[in-house]
Amino acid sequence: MDIRENLEKVTGQIVQAAESVGRDAAEVELVAVSKRHPQARIEVALEAGHRIFGENRVQEAQEKYEALKARYPALELHLVGPLQTNKAKDAVELFDVIQSLDRLKLAEALAKAMKQTGRAPKLFIEVNTGEEEQKAGVLPQEADGFIRVCRDELGLPVIGLMCIPPAHEEPAPHFALLSKIAERNGLRELSMGMSGDFETAIKLGATYVRVGEAIFGPRPKAA
Ligand SMILES: *Cc1c(COP(=O)(O)O)cnc(C)c1O
Repeated sequence: MDIRENLEKVTGQIVQAAESVGRDAAEVELVAVSKRHPQARIEVALEAGHRIFGENRVQEAQEKYEALKARYPALELHLVGPLQTNKAKDAVELFDVIQSLDRLKLAEALAKAMKQTGRAPKLFIEVNTGEEEQKAGVLPQEADGFIRVCRDELGLPVIGLMCIPPAHEEPAPHFALLSKIAERNGLRELSMGMSGDFETAIKLGATYVRVGEAIFGPRPKAA
């Protein structure tokens, strides 16, 4: 399992998918999701020149990335997992992008943390396109209103939308729905697509894909 080779392969697939629909591959950023993988494997990707990474838990990201961010100033770290309100300040201090803004309480906590810290990570609003009960994200029919409150009332730096389609459904309709909601709200960035479906997501307009296993291999079991 060679991380450098995997990065090259995924990058090639991104280029092909983009070109197949007449898009410029430079519009698509690859977020390498390193959750549950040790720091040593992340360093292999950094040595290979990769700079954009994703984690799904604040504490694990602090442990693995604080030193790495000091050593690699261009490192851009994304939070892709759910965020508890009481971790909002820690998240604002560590992450450059938070992709999981999904409720008003969290929006308010992030606005307060940004004021306190003077940092302003870019935000994606997560949309629960499959309307799954157990899943995070605002419902599609609530998205326009929530985007308006976050941007206009709280002044948050919302740049786009994120979704995680239901595990056992065709992802394309979910990607298309997310794209439609973003477009009508004037949001440019779309975070959609993982190892199994990032090419489909790119064909439907993804500007950020979140890829874990196809880069780092199977994840070690949670401790
Ligand atoms: C783990 C994770 C990914 C990466 O998933 P892979 O299937 O390993 O590519 C992407 N997005 C989120 C939100 C994740 O939690």
